[in-house]
Amino acid sequence: MSDRYLAFANSSTGRRLVGALGLPAPVRLERWMAGRVRPIDGALLFGGEGDLVKAIQPFASKLTDQLFAARDGQFDLPRWTAEHGPKLKALVFDASHLTRFEQLIELRDFFQPAFKGLANSPRVVVLGRAPESLKDPVAASVQRSLEGFTRSLGKEIRRGGSVQLLYVGKGGDQQLEGALRFFLSPKSAYVSGQVLRLGACGEQVKDWTRPLAGKKALVTGASRGIGASIAEVLARDGAEVVLLDVPQAADALQALAARLGGRAVTLDICADDAPQRLVEALPDGLDIVVHNAGITRDKTLAKMSDAFWNSVIDVNLKAPQVLTQALLDADKLHDNGRVVLIASISGIAGNMGQTNYAVSKAGVIGLAQAWAPALAKKGISINAVAPGFIETQMTAAIPLGIREAGRRMNSMSQGGLPQDVAEAVAWFAQPGSGAVTAQVLRVCGQSLLGA
Ligand code: NAD
Repeated sequence: MSDRYLAFANSSTGRRLVGALGLPAPVRLERWMAGRVRPIDGALLFGGEGDLVKAIQPFASKLTDQLFAARDGQFDLPRWTAEHGPKLKALVFDASHLTRFEQLIELRDFFQPAFKGLANSPRVVVLGRAPESLKDPVAASVQRSLEGFTRSLGKEIRRGGSVQLLYVGKGGDQQLEGALRFFLSPKSAYVSGQVLRLGACGEQVKDWTRPLAGKKALVTGASRGIGASIAEVLARDGAEVVLLDVPQAADALQALAARLGGRAVTLDICADDAPQRLVEALPDGLDIVVHNAGITRDKTLAKMSDAFWNSVIDVNLKAPQVLTQALLDADKLHDNGRVVLIASISGIAGNMGQTNYAVSKAGVIGLAQAWAPALAKKGISINAVAPGFIETQMTAAIPLGIREAGRRMNSMSQGGLPQDVAEAVAWFAQPGSGAVTAQVLRVCGQSLLGA
């Protein structure tokens, strides 16, 4: 499972050779460590002239104590210059005021000098207004053009950096703290080139050291891989966790549940009595449901058997739908609950030999979009996280050539870790993240597949 090339490229010999031959040069990504308090370990530079940045001011000093502005007098912050300022760990550019094509040059004017002063693993967030919310076609086009800008910048930033675009709608400015704590910190280490829309949400995180305190979470497929990491990160953030997996995985599941102070439920999610048994296992109901259990049975369509096709659809797509319906019917999903489905970039881009899997994962994205309006009436959000190449037993089983291609074909030239998916899930699970629903967040290092 280990990425030997990443280790080699970061050794002293490897660095020279990789540079001389022009090979991919992955850097070791910074990741969130338990016990850390400040999201940004270094300087944060603000730019742009929109109004949204005003909503950040009240909590900006909780992100980092090194705040700078691109212009004199902006937000009463010291001015940063490439010549005299410290290295930049994070940039926030408020582009919400851009309504004319001539103003787009402001992007170049801000980012060109700022990019000369970047520290390692820099994080960039561009803020805008959703094009569909604007009546003026030019303004809508200008705001839409930010997608091309941020995605291109994601491919240029290198050194383990990331760039995202947040379209902030009505009330969404009140939930910027949670979003920025995720996107400006190492929690989003393997997320780049993403575009999300933030709306209003009545809930707020009360304690940022334990944002999920008092919440009960169910994670399916939690005995190993990504599911185990999701359970771990949700528990770290204060949730009480219920871990579910097949009976064959009972030992690993119980050991992890015990370590996390949670509970283990052994159940095949495709069994006929799974909905009833799940409901019975949750007398007090739930706040967070993570549909993570999944399988692959790869074959080209020409060689695809009934069994391969059906088993993948049953586990990855049918079970999340049936179990979500059962939890709702039994009134087990609390108001303001959070549902997260684990999709895949395969469900976005398609993948050779994975028609069955891509059907199931595209279908999961469809579930998030289809359920969202009805669930919103109870304050429940439902989103999909679409991982790219993540280092797990599932991807260790891929033949070497395809595995290496999967690892390198992204802006970070490496695979992600289960923790990277787990951090995204944990952000979606937060009280304030009701601001995001019916959306897909890729955790793929900005993979070229389906870009
Ligand atoms: P994994 O095989 O390591 O873990 C999957 C878990 O799901 C296992 O513990 C398994 O026992 C459980 N499971 C399978 N069928 C089940 C059933 N019928 N009932 C209950 N539990 C069941 O896989 P992983 O790599 O950790 O993947 C987790 C999720 O992420 C899956 O949905 C997968 O499709 C998705 N994903 C993974 C990657 C990757 O690169 N690893 C990429 C994209 C998406």
